[in-house]
Amino acid sequence: MSIVVIGAGYAGTVAANRLAKKAPGARITVVNPRAEFVERVRLHEHLAGSGGAVTPLTEMLNPRIRLVVGTVDKIGDGSLLLADGTTLPFEHLVYAAGGAVTAPSGTFAVGGLESAERARAALADLPDGARVTVVGGGLTGIETAAEVAESHPGLRVRLLSEGEVGASLGEGARGRVHRELARLGVAVERGRFDGAVGDADLVLWAIATQVSDLGARSGLAVDADGRVLVDEYLRSVSDPRVLAVGDGAAVPGARLSCQTALPQGAHGADNLARILEGAAPKRYSMGYTGQNVSIGRRSAVIQVARRDDSPTRIWFAGRPAAALKEQVCRLARGAARTATFAWLPAPR
Ligand SMILES: Cc1cc2nc3c(=O)[nH]c(=O)nc-3n(C[C@H](O)[C@H](O)[C@H](O)COP(=O)(O)OP(=O)(O)OC[C@H]3O[C@@H](n4cnc5c(N)ncnc54)[C@H](O)[C@@H]3O)c2cc1C
Repeated sequence: MSIVVIGAGYAGTVAANRLAKKAPGARITVVNPRAEFVERVRLHEHLAGSGGAVTPLTEMLNPRIRLVVGTVDKIGDGSLLLADGTTLPFEHLVYAAGGAVTAPSGTFAVGGLESAERARAALADLPDGARVTVVGGGLTGIETAAEVAESHPGLRVRLLSEGEVGASLGEGARGRVHRELARLGVAVERGRFDGAVGDADLVLWAIATQVSDLGARSGLAVDADGRVLVDEYLRSVSDPRVLAVGDGAAVPGARLSCQTALPQGAHGADNLARILEGAAPKRYSMGYTGQNVSIGRRSAVIQVARRDDSPTRIWFAGRPAAALKEQVCRLARGAARTATFAWLPAPR
């Protein structure tokens, strides 16, 4: 039985490693554009020069798994066409292609490794007093602005957001984020990026909500954003040989996060292992715990959430929060590697 996993992010890596444990007779292949696992949750650190985000996939994948370094151009009927022209047959497919990185010209996308590396080099060349604009007031924009301001204290950092900064947080946590940004000298401005770089010496695009268009290009049923539509077992509604997990899967109520990608990848793998044994798949169910926002290396804001992901009144911040956030990032990478972890079910 051959299983191919497209993408070695959080969802694809945990799925492949879980299958290596639970589907002993299967040949498992992972296709990924590079031989490294990229911790997207650390790309703002990578960009600012305060941390790294790359681990060789040989250290992440179970030795039973074959890695093909390549990019899938199209998913065909039982085979994949790779960008180098080769084909790869599959009997079952795990679609974990995740996020896509596009940014307006003249700006640097935070959400991709190559663009984050280019931004890191450009930042290093800026003289003191240069202006950096970070576009996007979601958690990625907050983390990026804070990280750059802390790592490059001579730069003038502005966070530009069309909507409210930290809108997904509760009032208390949001207020603390604003105070932390002010402490680091980040100027917060409400407005829409009009495409012109203006007076900024560098613009960082911190809106990381796009997903790969591979599913749509390949004729799988997708939603308006290009996410693969799945049933309650995480199977594609248009091709039952395909399971879709992570950012690229349209799972109702799911937020784009590694907190979501990991349980989806694990559950998708468990269901595939059940199907291979002739057993019935189980419904996917997942409840949230909170949102963690790093504010540089020495602080963070942790918003405790209900299982439906709505913020509670409980939050905390400062050094203990930074330590917890760091642990969460390590645990996420460890969970992808070992494929051993548990999660809460969705609320009734
Ligand atoms: C700066 C930043 C900070 C973040 N912080 C947090 C956080 O604190 N907490 C949190 O929960 N989430 C955070 N996120 C979001 C989180 O990183 C994503 O939701 C998560 O990475 C999704 O995992 P994934 O496996 O679905 O997709 P990805 O991590 O995007 O992985 C997809 C993989 O598929 C590969 N791929 C894509 N197309 C193809 C193709 N055609 N052929 C082969 N391979 C392909 C990609 O190269 C990649 O390796 C952050 C994101 C960013 C950018």
